[in-house]
Amino acid sequence: MIKLSHITSYITCPRLCYYRLHFEDEVFTEMNAVREIYLSFRRGFDLKWAEERAKALYSNFDYEVFKKASEKFVYREIGLKTVEWDTVLKSERLEVVMTVDEIVSDGQREFPLFLSLNSPEEGIWFKDVIKAGIAGIIAGYDESKIYYAYSGELRDVEVSYGIKRKALKLIERVKMIKKGFLPERRESEYCKFCSFKEDCKAKPETFASKFL
Ligand code: SF4
Repeated sequence: MIKLSHITSYITCPRLCYYRLHFEDEVFTEMNAVREIYLSFRRGFDLKWAEERAKALYSNFDYEVFKKASEKFVYREIGLKTVEWDTVLKSERLEVVMTVDEIVSDGQREFPLFLSLNSPEEGIWFKDVIKAGIAGIIAGYDESKIYYAYSGELRDVEVSYGIKRKALKLIERVKMIKKGFLPERRESEYCKFCSFKEDCKAKPETFASKFL
């Protein structure tokens, strides 16, 4: 199955998606830390508990990364009730699986809530829009919430036909990479932290890679 993280990796860099599909990524990330902090606070636990959860769940736990994330984390009450945490949505037909951080309710409707780190000045990052699009395709949600953990802001994404089309296009591209096509690099600031940078430098681009 293709995971949500493979699809969001494609948005960062198609080649990173290739590596994450075919090899394990051993790095404990700020996103991992933020997730445990958010879920602990929502349940009424403290930062120490979040750290214990992260240590128990991640064999690659890195205290420095956890500390950095906890210093930037902003917790605000969002005024929505928790329905469920860690909900797995799956489509056998599309061969896609995603974990939704939280399902929340405003008393009338339920929404998937996804965590993200820094917020853009306005609107929603494309990768977060795509998360909402995939939840829309798999489970019929027409709106998702994004909690930007480093500003404590909650923003909404309405899932339009256009967003679903873009999400499906990305799923198709990731499926091609899963078959073994090596895609092009998309160099960015992320390359500095990429766990696959040495191998990436050594692998040349091919004519076919330009089309992924
Ligand atoms: S080093 Fe940069 S270009 Fe290469 S896979 Fe990582 S993010 Fe992509």
